[in-house]
Amino acid sequence: MLHPELLALLACPACEERPPLELHGAYLVCFQCRRAYPIRDEIPVLLVEEAVPLEQVQSEQSQEQGG
Ligand SMILES: [Zn+2]
Repeated sequence: MLHPELLALLACPACEERPPLELHGAYLVCFQCRRAYPIRDEIPVLLVEEAVPLEQVQSEQSQEQGG
């Protein structure tokens, strides 16, 4: 797991204001621009081109809960 202290240091690279990111399953989510950054091998990939829409992450998670 990511350390909460590390998480506090991370900021959205797409937003000028550098808002803090929220852990959302296997993603770090920026609720300002609604991007979700994947975490691969416990390393957050904070690249705008790797980000997926927040809606996509939420639908993935609701599918998991259905099983
Ligand atoms: Zn953002």
